[in-house]
Amino acid sequence: MNKPIVSSAAKGVFINNKWVPGASGKTVPVVAPAEGQVFAAITAGNAEDVDRAVAAARAAAEGGAWSRFSATERGRLLSKFALLIADHAEELALIEARDTGKPLKQARADMVATARYFEYYGGAADKVHGDTIPFLPGFFVTTEHVPYGVTAHVIPWNYPAQMFGRTVAPALAMGNACVVKPAEDACLTPLRLAELAAEAGFPEGALNIVPGLGEEAGAALSSHRDIDFISFTGSPEVGVLIQTAAARNHIGCTLELGGKSPHVVFGDADLDTATSVISNAMVQNAGQTCSAGSRVLVEKAAYDTVVQALADKFSKLTAGTPEMDRDLGPVINATQKKRIEGFFARAEDQGVPVLASGQIAEGTPAEGFFVAPRVYGPVPRANELATLEVFGPVLAVLPFDDEADAVRLANGTDYGLMAAVWSHDGNRALRVSRGIKAGQVYINAFGAGGGIELPFGGMKKSGHGREKGFAALHDCSQIRTTITKHG
Ligand code: NAP
Ligand code: MG
Repeated sequence: MNKPIVSSAAKGVFINNKWVPGASGKTVPVVAPAEGQVFAAITAGNAEDVDRAVAAARAAAEGGAWSRFSATERGRLLSKFALLIADHAEELALIEARDTGKPLKQARADMVATARYFEYYGGAADKVHGDTIPFLPGFFVTTEHVPYGVTAHVIPWNYPAQMFGRTVAPALAMGNACVVKPAEDACLTPLRLAELAAEAGFPEGALNIVPGLGEEAGAALSSHRDIDFISFTGSPEVGVLIQTAAARNHIGCTLELGGKSPHVVFGDADLDTATSVISNAMVQNAGQTCSAGSRVLVEKAAYDTVVQALADKFSKLTAGTPEMDRDLGPVINATQKKRIEGFFARAEDQGVPVLASGQIAEGTPAEGFFVAPRVYGPVPRANELATLEVFGPVLAVLPFDDEADAVRLANGTDYGLMAAVWSHDGNRALRVSRGIKAGQVYINAFGAGGGIELPFGGMKKSGHGREKGFAALHDCSQIRTTITKHG
């Protein structure tokens, strides 16, 4: 797969439906993780580019053509964009697979989900109702959800197309004009999606993209004086910078900062199904999924059975290039690979047992950033493999004593993004699920990243605000209350 599938020339920054040259004249090389080779370049957007993009968005949101679209018209446009994404799904999947290294089947599924974001929010755009509120005699009070104006979106590299859909679709549905800073490591699909949005008919300034470095384009965007809201997904460290920038500007933000999501497995569950779902979900996107279920908490009596099943499954998992379409691809870059190998080395020093390792397929380029998946157990409760987000294909298994211990253990990290409870005792499953502090809890199922209809977001240090579902529409708009005295 060494032929370029996208131009190696950086196209610029996307403002007012056109590519314009970046002000710095600089570019950032783009590396294919499966090959370890540069195959494209993006423009290194800077503060001047961000200024132009925000001004274009402001003009669109206030007085421009975009501000005159009715909710129904916005919805139709989003639906049209969804169809255009579906029409270009294969082209987009090939770009995404090369840019991120993920297996083609995963990239294809991601494009289905990306189109679905615009389909869902296209349908929802004109169904966001306000309230009427009983008040004093002689008064009539209504509320409506109005757009913020200009929304800023800083997104990560793990699911570039899906993350774009997740954050941009509801913001556009509500009538905001968006400025997006995608991740330097993988952003070619968001750049292509911007072109398709223009083709679908979004008016000038409704959607603008400034690619480039986080410290430069990302920092300039998140601290810009003329943005009204920020949506961020990424690391807790950058989340602090984003929230600080928002605070300085007196604006709100949504933060999605990852997790260390637990599966709580009781002995009466369907252990075959549970262990299959758990191992497949863990290696989805090479474990680089904020909602990955990376801790498996198992009732002591079932520990040996579960560990055996997980070890069997992990030993058969294989990493390969996108075209090999194996269980997982490489991780995103050399730094991530080194970071994951650091966890492995420390686990070895600390004597944490490896239950099984998968393999790297023969014929994968030696320069690619491949990591063979691993399952560890029993992992001591305070060990970093049990508490920190590895963001790689690594599963930690820990035994628990009873229901109370399971809930304590499930809640025993700083994070609270997702969880799953596996048990055929319905009362217990519900009790335990309601005891876990997490924004989404599955019972006898697990879907890392799935379900566009389902409100999603963190409790505790996983962040705040909600994406997906109608909750996202409320999060990227504000309530205006109109109080009329009619006497
Ligand atoms: P990151 O730095 O937080 O990247 C997320 C986004 O923020 C990227 O677009 C990034 O730009 C941008 N950014 C970086 N510094 C910024 C700044 N000073 N101001 C504004 N924006 C800035 O994450 P990462 O370095 O790619 O990954 C590190 C770790 O974060 C991973 O190991 C993982 O644990 C976690 N992570 C979590 C998620 C998630 O879904 N919750 C996603 C990705 C990573 P660049 O493109 O220049 O990086
Ligand atoms: Mg970074």
